[in-house]
Amino acid sequence: MTPHFSYVRPGSLKEAIGQLRQNGAVVHAGGTDLLGCLREKIFDVRKVVSLSGLPDLRGVEKVSGGGLRIGALTTITEIAEHPLIQKRYTALAQGASEVASPQLRNQGTIGGNLCQKPRCWYYRGEFHCMRKGGDICYAAGGENQFHCIFGSGGRCYIVHPSDTAPALAALQAQVEITGPQGLRTVPVDDFHALPEDDVERETWLEPNEIVTAVRLPAPPPSLKSSYRKIRARRSWDFALAGAALALELDGDRVVDGRVFLSGAAPVPWRSLSVEEAIRGKVLDDATIVKAADAVVKAARPLEKNKYKLPLFRGMIQEELRRFRENLA
Ligand SMILES: Cc1cc2nc3c(=O)[nH]c(=O)nc-3n(C[C@H](O)[C@H](O)[C@H](O)COP(=O)(O)OP(=O)(O)OC[C@H]3O[C@@H](n4cnc5c(N)ncnc54)[C@H](O)[C@@H]3O)c2cc1C
Repeated sequence: MTPHFSYVRPGSLKEAIGQLRQNGAVVHAGGTDLLGCLREKIFDVRKVVSLSGLPDLRGVEKVSGGGLRIGALTTITEIAEHPLIQKRYTALAQGASEVASPQLRNQGTIGGNLCQKPRCWYYRGEFHCMRKGGDICYAAGGENQFHCIFGSGGRCYIVHPSDTAPALAALQAQVEITGPQGLRTVPVDDFHALPEDDVERETWLEPNEIVTAVRLPAPPPSLKSSYRKIRARRSWDFALAGAALALELDGDRVVDGRVFLSGAAPVPWRSLSVEEAIRGKVLDDATIVKAADAVVKAARPLEKNKYKLPLFRGMIQEELRRFRENLA
């Protein structure tokens, strides 16, 4: 049963931020994740602050310098289908098109996608795990087939669930955050919290702050990007393994690249080892095999998720080969 809470629908951003001052107040965007959390009583909610009365937070606009600003309430469908995003920020359009099902993409927003709660069944179930203030991670010695292989810090083994966050991080996007002190921006790759830094939070957003937009810089002309997701079910499912690649190319040589993994760690996980293996190199077979081996070099799998190692290896090989074929 859903717990009792009050519901407000502010007509201005300032009012919405003011409403979040109360303990137990949460933001409601599309509600596709939040309503499940309420029903499952994952956290204590006393007030739901709807953003639906703030139309200024919707939509995609070009900004000076050639980048894009995507309002936090822009739906995942709008992002997946936006022609400019498909053309210039392909990884983001592909990531968005891999989120959940058509119905959830029509309702879910980019702000909610970045801030959604993890899917660990112990966290979502009736377990007082470390992330909920307890002193045990039940996944560490339990049913850990869908858990992380990097970044647990030996504390919490969730995987970050968003399909757009790795793409945004690879594309060097910034999160625009508005709070009582005004506006600040944070690179997407610094927005999510590792368990070793704070095991009870997923992002560095303060309780009375709102994600108002994401900002994408103008991509260099030679940038090509992609997002690949492997999942158990085709209809809808979270990533078992995924990767966002944003590569600057000079012919078939990789000048530079950013690679972020999904289904791998409690945050979108930057694979510096893959980046290092391909930087300055021609995408020949030897480079591709080296990069695929490098992706899991520092992995620490659990008892039931060792299958992720060949999955990541194979996926990186396939993705890099796909880049090469598209260059031919
Ligand atoms: C069956 C199912 C399958 C799913 N599959 C996937 C998947 O494959 N990939 C994927 O990435 N996601 C998936 N999701 C998660 C979710 O639907 C999407 O992430 C969606 O984009 C969330 O957006 P929302 O607007 O509905 O968020 P909400 O449910 O409204 O909010 C989610 C969380 O973010 C906070 N929040 C929302 N907006 C803001 C904001 N602007 N500022 C600050 N905090 C905010 C809320 O307080 C809440 O804690 C799935 C969900 C379900 C139910």
